[in-house]
Amino acid sequence: MIDRGMAFIEGAYVEPANAKISVFDLGFTKSDVVYDVTSVWKGRFFRIDDHIERFMRSCAGVGMRCPYDESEIRQILGNCVHRGDVADNAYVEVALTRGAYKSYIGDFTPDLRDTHVSFIAFAIPYVWIVPPEAQDVGISIIVAKTRRIPDECVDARFKNFHWGDFTQARIEATDAGAHNAVLCTPDGYLAEGPGFNIFFVADGTLHTPKRNMLEGITRRTVVELADEIGTSVESGNYQPEALLEADEAFICSTAGGIMPVVKVDDRIFSNGKPGEISSRLRNLYWQKREAGWLGTPVEEVIAAA
Ligand code: PLP
Repeated sequence: MIDRGMAFIEGAYVEPANAKISVFDLGFTKSDVVYDVTSVWKGRFFRIDDHIERFMRSCAGVGMRCPYDESEIRQILGNCVHRGDVADNAYVEVALTRGAYKSYIGDFTPDLRDTHVSFIAFAIPYVWIVPPEAQDVGISIIVAKTRRIPDECVDARFKNFHWGDFTQARIEATDAGAHNAVLCTPDGYLAEGPGFNIFFVADGTLHTPKRNMLEGITRRTVVELADEIGTSVESGNYQPEALLEADEAFICSTAGGIMPVVKVDDRIFSNGKPGEISSRLRNLYWQKREAGWLGTPVEEVIAAA
């Protein structure tokens, strides 16, 4: 039960316990939702405009018209954080569901471009995909048997709620005693995991999948940090064997930062310890965030609108 933070639904700020939508909302009945998640650390939003831009691209990508513009969304997110008293650290989500049909009676195929979309935002205490203590010693993942939904069916660049594949992969991971799972495309190439992108290090170069995945903001941040430490990055089509034969690996997400992986299936990396490059990037990420890098103070976000 989430008892801290603040949500914004149907134009009003409400406590998390009262943040509810209709059972007739197509977001609920058809997972017809696009969303984005940014975070706040020590009073500052991270890359808030990049997240809002991506959110607007997701809305357009699935043919939904957001009722608020970028500056209004900024203000709403700032207010959720401020009113929810979570400015120290927060997980901040914005979502748009297809909403409810305008007319339903006797007609199950009304115009989907003409629904009452429902705009939702909330700020709750920061969420970690894997707790920091587990990240300190490195995490374990599996390569899931469940395949990632192909982009030809649901475009992963538009951040969405089609999590059926991710959910099954997470169940596989739990059954295998691992923290999480990475999924491959139906044609067998590494894609991404439930809420994260993946990197591996081979011969001193970082590698990351280049298609069928969300273009993560943390992934982009990793590329910038890698440049700072003089490590080259390549994106490509990689089979899971490339990951299994790598020197190190890590996953990355708004929800947890850069998380070193020490085990993939039965393969153990760097004697079971987080790799050198992964650890450097992880430390740099948090040091820079603590120092306010690419951050916008919550008060500034609220005042700017
Ligand atoms: N891939 C998926 C499917 C995600 O849901 C997420 C984030 O939640 C990511 C990757 C990582 O993206 P970001 O770094 O922007 O949080």
